[in-house]
Formats: sequence, structure tokens, C-alpha cells
Amino acid sequence: MRIGVLALQGAFIEHIKLVKKLGTEALAVRRPDELKGLDGLIIPGGESTTILNLIHSFRLLKPIKKLAQAGFPILGTCAGMVCLAKKISNNSSLEALAVMDMAVRRNAFGRQIDSFEVKLPIPALGDKPFPAVFIRAPIIESAGPPVEILAKLPSGTIVAARQGRLLATAFHPELSNDLRLHRYFLDIIADAS
Ligand code: GLN
Repeated sequence: MRIGVLALQGAFIEHIKLVKKLGTEALAVRRPDELKGLDGLIIPGGESTTILNLIHSFRLLKPIKKLAQAGFPILGTCAGMVCLAKKISNNSSLEALAVMDMAVRRNAFGRQIDSFEVKLPIPALGDKPFPAVFIRAPIIESAGPPVEILAKLPSGTIVAARQGRLLATAFHPELSNDLRLHRYFLDIIADAS
């Protein structure tokens, strides 16, 4: 199995390390031709406006969108989640990948608590809560029927979701030592093939 990590900006090195820890090949992706031969793609956290700008400059928007629409597995974390959403509030006018039926709001926690960690229950990963690191994180404001909600904060705010083989988290699973979220993504890929 080969996982590509979009390496235009943000926390891509951490994702590559984590996937390798799971014994799976991971490589940095910057050009459209580097999407060939991959079994899945991770879009990391960072700054979604910068990532989207670079996705456009590197002519990656159409190829990634086509793959996603054809059932190719993609994990988007934080800014990566923003890139996947069909509706983005608090955004520039940049066209996003727009492949998951959900509305997200950027920087939804405001300045006072712009970074925090919570023990987040994610039933799909088992009983033990996940150490979820939020950094100027977006939230999922609403999600359509094809979207399965995977995790909510105690306030009820949705922070992780899945739609077929597309997976999105508002937090940074690559910044904890817990490998379960990435393993879950690899399992989605293995089930598909
Ligand atoms: N606030 C960033 C954005 O909307 C996301 C932050 C992150 O990825 N840690 O792009």
C-alpha cells in the first residue's frame, strides 16, 4: 500500500512519519503525476487558503477532485478537512475540492482557545478516547445524509466525519502518539481493494 501526503504546506512531515510507523509506504506529493499509483491521499493541516492557493497553482484541483469523486480514499485533517467540504464559511473565494456534503466553519474556536487538546470519544476507534489536538481548528456546522458523524465535542460540535472513503477531522491526529485514526484510514483503503 502507498499513501501520498500532499506536501504543499503544513504538517505533512508528521503524517508521513506516522504512516511509516504503521509499516506503510508514505511519500510527499506535490505534482499531479505523483498521484499515480497511490492507494490513498492525506491532506494535512496548515493554512487552508495557502494550501488551496498552491493546489490551484500546482494544477492539482481537478485531478484530486476526480479521484475523490471516483471513490479514491482521502483523509483531510484540519485545513485538509476545509479543503474537502462543499461549503466553507469564513473563507476566501478560492474554489475548494468540495467533495464532502458538509458545511465547515474555519477558525471556529476564536482566539481565546485557539489551541487545545481533549480526550475525544470516537466510537469507530474503540472505547479509549482519542487525544485530539485542535489548532485554530474548523468545525463541521452541518452535514448531509451521506456523511457519517464520527466524533462530537461535549458541546455537540461535530469534529470528525466520514463519507464513503473520504475521512475528515477538525483536529490533528498526526500530532499525537495515537495511531488509531491513521490505522482506521488504512483499513478503509484495505476494505476498498
Ligand atoms: N485555521 C486554519 C485554516 O482554516 C486551519 C488550522 C490548521 O490546519 N491547524 O486553514
